[in-house]
Amino acid sequence: EEVIARVQTHVTLYRSRQKLMQAEKALRKSEQSLVIAQAVAHLGHWEMDVRTGETIWSDETYRIFGLEPQEIAPSYDTFLKVVHPDDRERVANHIEQTREGCDFDIEYRIVFPDGRERVVHGKGILVAFLGSDRLPEIIGTVQCVNEMVGVIQDITERKEMEWRLEHEARTDSLTGCATRRYFLEVAKLEFSRSRRYASDLSVLMLDLDHFKTVNDSYGHHAGDLTLQKVAQVCRGILRQEDLIGRLGGEEFAILLIETGSEKAFDVAERLRVAVAAAEVPLENHPPLRFTTSIGVATMAEADHDIEEIIKHADQAMYNAKNSGRNRVA
Ligand code: GH3
Ligand code: MG
Ligand code: MG
Repeated sequence: EEVIARVQTHVTLYRSRQKLMQAEKALRKSEQSLVIAQAVAHLGHWEMDVRTGETIWSDETYRIFGLEPQEIAPSYDTFLKVVHPDDRERVANHIEQTREGCDFDIEYRIVFPDGRERVVHGKGILVAFLGSDRLPEIIGTVQCVNEMVGVIQDITERKEMEWRLEHEARTDSLTGCATRRYFLEVAKLEFSRSRRYASDLSVLMLDLDHFKTVNDSYGHHAGDLTLQKVAQVCRGILRQEDLIGRLGGEEFAILLIETGSEKAFDVAERLRVAVAAAEVPLENHPPLRFTTSIGVATMAEADHDIEEIIKHADQAMYNAKNSGRNRVA
């Protein structure tokens, strides 16, 4: 009986010790995570026993205060010494109010040992541990506002750079039209959407007539101005939701959403007339006039993807060229 009792006691002891070790391991892990999370967020935390004044600072709090843990023992007094002399009274008043149960939520300046100043944002609350022998404490956080501003600025600059690059990749610098890549990206999406909602979709392919002679006779710059003029004329006629893409040299594609073949043909005809009426002013020359050939294609049951519609519009455009140019097919 005695042996069995002893064995049972030791088994129970062994199990308790195992549980304790597991709990300690979990605690160590959560403490490590807390340290890392605070470092990532630049957020320190502190605890102060309301009655004894005993204080704990987290590693990140030390770092924010510009101090080393071995250099200085944390206490209410050492905390007040870190605070900028001009802010000390205000901070002390707030801490007093927090002892009474008010929330602590203020910005104040701190001074590093080397004299540098930082602005921090401090928050804290009075915590009473009900049903435990732990004394009431003020538990608070401290976050360096200067640093956060620094981090936010970094992100803003990086984001602005990303947006600019994205915008450049989407926009043709000469005409302001969509680039080939962006046009195809949007057209693909619109194709699926039109399929899903059984709505119409049309594509126009627009190519300048005898554009080589414009370049040859008036120079490349006049050619560029002509391309800009075409884009401007198109924008003047098309709706906001239509997309103009410059697919290559002097070829433009226009995506007309919710537009059937009859309406698309009308739009193409209006574009053709407007382009033919447009003028590019030149120095020492009469204004330049030019024409376009436009192919129209509308989504049909048999089309599997947007590329097929674009191909049909391209074929139609060549038909327009072959039947005399300055026309819609
Ligand atoms: P077609 O009526 O058959 O379309 O004749 P075209 O001369 O317009 O056609 P072609 O494809 O033979 O020539 C296109 C010309 O477009 C060639 C090139 O000099 C000119 N081009 C292409 N891209 C640009 C550009 O960015 N700026 C200028 N100025 N010209 C360009
Ligand atoms: Mg051409
Ligand atoms: Mg061409």
